[in-house]
Formats: sequence, C-alpha cells, structure tokens
Amino acid sequence: MSATEVRSSGKVGEDSNMKAVNYQGPYKLKVEEVPNPTIEHPDDVIVKKPIAGRENMGVVDKLGSGVVQLKKGDRVVIPFNIGDGRCHNCVEGNTGFCLGANPGFAGAAYGYVALGPYRGGQAQYLQVPFADFNALKLPAGKEHDADFILLAEIFPTGWHDVKISGFQAGEIIAVFGARPVGLMASYSTSILGASKIYLVDRVPERLSAARKIPECMPIDFTQSDALYQIIEANDEMVDRSVDCVGYQAVDSSGEKEQPNIILENMIRVTRACGGMGIPGLYLPQDPGSSDEKGPKRQMLISFRKLFEKICRLLMSPLYLPWQEFVRQEPSE
Ligand SMILES: [Zn+2]
Repeated sequence: MSATEVRSSGKVGEDSNMKAVNYQGPYKLKVEEVPNPTIEHPDDVIVKKPIAGRENMGVVDKLGSGVVQLKKGDRVVIPFNIGDGRCHNCVEGNTGFCLGANPGFAGAAYGYVALGPYRGGQAQYLQVPFADFNALKLPAGKEHDADFILLAEIFPTGWHDVKISGFQAGEIIAVFGARPVGLMASYSTSILGASKIYLVDRVPERLSAARKIPECMPIDFTQSDALYQIIEANDEMVDRSVDCVGYQAVDSSGEKEQPNIILENMIRVTRACGGMGIPGLYLPQDPGSSDEKGPKRQMLISFRKLFEKICRLLMSPLYLPWQEFVRQEPSE
C-alpha cells in the first residue's frame, strides 16, 4: 500500500455508505457520503460512533477473527494515535512512537498527515487496527459518556504532560496555555496534589475556567509579562512548568506569533533542578514562521540559561498512551 492510499477506500455504492468529514483544503471541510470501513485485517474492529468527532468513542460493530478481548456491542474509547502494542517503543509504553503501525515512521494516527494509511475519526464508523491493544473497553450502557470521551485524548494528554515534568505532590507548577490540554494538565496537577498552579492564557473564558480548578490562579499574559506575574504572586520560581501551546504561541499583543516564547518563559520561571514538560507541538519545519529560523528547522532558545539550571526536560507530542493513565494503581 503506497503512502497515498488509505485503508477501507472502497467505492461509493459498493456497500453501505456513511457520512464523514472530508478535508478539501484550508478552511474547506465537507460532509460527504463515503463507503463504510471494512475489516481488512484479523486484528481490526469497526466501531460505530454516536458522535462523529475527533474523539473516538463508540460501540463495536464488526470484529476481525483475531480480536479476542472485545465483542460486538462493547462500548469502547480509542486514543487518536495508533499503536501495534508489540514493537520496542510500544512495549516501553511510548505508543505515540509506534514503529509497527506506520512502518518507516515512528508514530501513527487516524487521518493525520504522514501518520499512516488510516482514515480519520470524524465519521459515523471507524476502522480500529490492532483493536485489542487500542480499544479500551468501558462499562456497558451510556452512563458517563461525557466523561469517558475525555479518555480519547485530552485528559491523558494533560495528565502525561504533568508527569513528564517530574511533578511531585506539594509542588508548584506553571502551565502555559489554557485550551483543553492546559486545563486538563492543571486539573491533573490539582488531583496530584499541587500546592499552587499558575495557568497562563489571554482568553477570558479560558481564564474563567481556570478559576474553577482548586489551587489554580489564572495569569493573563496580555496584562503584563507572565513571568513577572508568576514570580510576584509566588515570591519565587516554580518547581515545574508545562508547555501546552507549542510553536504557534503569540506575544503579549495576542497578534504576533512568537514560536519560542513559551520555552523562554519556562526556562526563566522554573527553578534550578526543577522540571519542564513539553507536549506543545513543534513541527520539524515551519515554512510560514514569523522568524527566519522556522523554515531552517531551527528555533532560538536560551540553552545557556537552561544549562545553568540543569532542569529536567522531557518532550512528548500531544498524542500519547492512555494506557498509563487508566491503569495506574491508586496511591496508598
Ligand atoms: Zn508499536
């Protein structure tokens, strides 16, 4: 199968059809009739989705002969990255970098450029490969649907971001970005026992949501430098920081992209020997970058300052395993 082919790409009219969102170009999306996905490998299942959104959740409709842990009618939630569950990286828990689901590249996902031949989840049915590994079986019924759907990506992403910063109960953390991932990272930190959370954004509704999280203080970076607001409120640097924005961050005007601003703030606001978690997306190359570095696959950061502090620094893109999140044993 070539890189341009997709799985389950039958012809309209051959079998029953479904509605799916098709990307046709920038700002152009269209709901179209496309063929239903089919079982193409014994490890596949077909999931019927009550909500045709990016978050993958639904009921098992068809099963391949090799699937042993699921049955027709099971309610399941599925992360939007795909792991085969058997390669070196999957075995170590790094399923976002699976080597087997998209050979020649570390990582696979549904309907994502360069991440394999898999169709996207914004459709009525979804073909799930390596289903025993990828589909998490939920309790029967429809109870808590609105909570379980967060397991498809946002909640485990936020949780993972905090964990990779090395966060420990009782510590103080700065979270940059209060979109869903940043809110979930802050909420996760609250659950994990933060003594204080500083959540940085500029959108009033997001800052308002931050106030609902225990121990969370919203920081509006359009008012003044977020770094100084945090230092002033906290009286010192923080133990950990998390980047939930990535290279599309903007400066205090809210208008001009400044790809390195979050990382710079993290380096400056995190104490020596603290930790930084960086899930925020940084693509290898940014042809439309606001500075001359992006097109050259480069980004300027104060590495000398970072080295001076010897912070723990761990990077992980947004897609990641929920397995670690949902199977974690409760602490004593
Ligand atoms: Zn794998």
